[in-house]
Amino acid sequence: MAHRAEAVEFQMIDLDKVVSRAIAEFSGTNDANDLEHIKARYLGKSGVLSEARKELAKLPPDERRDVGARFNQAKDKIEAALAARRDELAADELDSRLGEEALDVTLPGRGLARGGLHPATRTLERIEQLFRSIGFDVADGPEIETDFHNFTALNQPQDHPARSMHDTFYLKGAGQNLLLRTHTSPIQVRYMQHHEPPFKIIAPGRVYRVDSDATHTPMFHQVEGLWIDEAVSLADLKGVLTDFLRKFFEDEKLRTRFRPSFFPFTEPSAEVDMSCVFCDGAGCRVCGQTGWLEVAGSGQVHPNVLKACGVDHEKYMGFAFGMGPDRLTMLRYGIDDLRLFYDGDLRFLAQFT
Ligand SMILES: [Zn+2]
Repeated sequence: MAHRAEAVEFQMIDLDKVVSRAIAEFSGTNDANDLEHIKARYLGKSGVLSEARKELAKLPPDERRDVGARFNQAKDKIEAALAARRDELAADELDSRLGEEALDVTLPGRGLARGGLHPATRTLERIEQLFRSIGFDVADGPEIETDFHNFTALNQPQDHPARSMHDTFYLKGAGQNLLLRTHTSPIQVRYMQHHEPPFKIIAPGRVYRVDSDATHTPMFHQVEGLWIDEAVSLADLKGVLTDFLRKFFEDEKLRTRFRPSFFPFTEPSAEVDMSCVFCDGAGCRVCGQTGWLEVAGSGQVHPNVLKACGVDHEKYMGFAFGMGPDRLTMLRYGIDDLRLFYDGDLRFLAQFT
């Protein structure tokens, strides 16, 4: 009996030690995988408790029940300690992940970005609105044009040297008859063919030339104007353009000057300059220290153009002008590279909405 009692005593001491050693090992690791390995060493099939439990078979039945209960208590303690440590490690991991992801709930939401009109479109709309307010209609026409509407009707027959001034995109397979319009003048040609004077129109739209650098893109915009009546002179031209530029740039003191020039479709012809909106005419980098910015070409419509378009050139006369709204946009907003307009970069475009 004494031998058996000793054996039981030995097992009981061992159990308390096993429990405290397991708890110490659980606390000693910060790694969830490591924790499961430790668990296997104590509670697994060939773990410390299972191996020791095999000794139970050697005890008499009444003692076996008592010692078996102690085994169960030890197992419960180890399992409780394991569960507590698992929870602690899971909570630590959540904390550190939240810390890494650092979600600042006080930041405002992104919301839905609101779209806006392209600066080139805004300028065209503004130009149309200003000219409508002084009685001009807005005319439209095709971007693929015939040689007749783009050149011949505008006093530029085949082999006319002025044609080489335009680097034209011709349509494949159409010889030199179909092309992408190089200016919006063909809109005016079509309008004159189908309307009786008097009329006042502007012709805005896209035009195309083989050209690409900081101030030229292969596609750009143009606005041309035409006023035909029995007595429309260069004085009217000067009044209309000066008034338009002052309103467009919101500067009542803006000045204009007209310099003699040459265009095949007008006679006489003039380049239109306006006082520099950046230096008020004092001279700066933008205006090349001249105090003036070139903004339009203009002149009295050539009688040959009126004739080609079926307008009675003995009875009617008038002026035409053409300008680049893209350049006006650059000057108005202080943009120095035209290509930014067509890169589609929202960081650039969103500034204008
Ligand atoms: Zn200037």
